[in-house]
Amino acid sequence: MRFIEPHAHMVSRVTDDYERMAVAGCEAVCEPAFWAGFDRSSAAGFFDYFCQLTGHEPKRAAKFGLKHFCWLCINPKEAEDVKLAEEVIALIPQFLDRTNVLGIGEIGLNKNSRNELKVLEMHVDLAARYNQLILVHTPHLEDKLKGTRLILDVLKGDKRIRPGRVIIDHVEEHTVAMVLDAGCWAGMTLYPETKCSPARAIDILENYGQERIWLNSACDWGVSDPLAVPKTAVEMKKRGHNSAMIDKVIYQNPRKFLGQCPKFKIG
Ligand SMILES: [Zn+2]
Repeated sequence: MRFIEPHAHMVSRVTDDYERMAVAGCEAVCEPAFWAGFDRSSAAGFFDYFCQLTGHEPKRAAKFGLKHFCWLCINPKEAEDVKLAEEVIALIPQFLDRTNVLGIGEIGLNKNSRNELKVLEMHVDLAARYNQLILVHTPHLEDKLKGTRLILDVLKGDKRIRPGRVIIDHVEEHTVAMVLDAGCWAGMTLYPETKCSPARAIDILENYGQERIWLNSACDWGVSDPLAVPKTAVEMKKRGHNSAMIDKVIYQNPRKFLGQCPKFKIG
């Protein structure tokens, strides 16, 4: 088996996780910028985090034969403070030339507030100005449907954005169709407790097809599993899906989307 982990917060994980992922067939891991589990007190905290994502973490992954890529932004959970967001967004362009940076993410919404929307629009503008791919986080539970609609409206409202260069992550049964219909890619997050279970993700694949869709573990500092993608592949096999279909979902699809960034080279 070979797979790409397109959404993992490896700064929160131990080296054993890198080793287990490599043994399971992982060929590349991609790390969106995320909430640290606590609010950072200044833009300087983000500067250091961006240095970690673009400098230290790729070296740590390389020790296990893994390529490491990342995405940069201020995440929606810290986007309520618009002034801080402006300061952080101003830091990003100096990092965009780093060899492992794929684009702007994970941006999006958390509580669907007015300030979050403003910061989302600022990020979309940044991505458009620098011709960057976009990775979007959608809110949890009862906020997801409304949040996904609001996000799609922002993306459609900026004519510079091509939907095929946007992945909208954490889709579920009630949001996957609207994301695919908008021409965007859809990501399904496999969590042991919330978000998608492997069984639900496979149901969605069976109902909506395997085009423009990928799986990720989004493993972070909380309860999560860096092997969720290969474990779901095993479940797909048990349901009778052939190896070509499995390879498409866990390897070819993320490779196709991420390959739109010339820096994404693997194999
Ligand atoms: Zn994430």
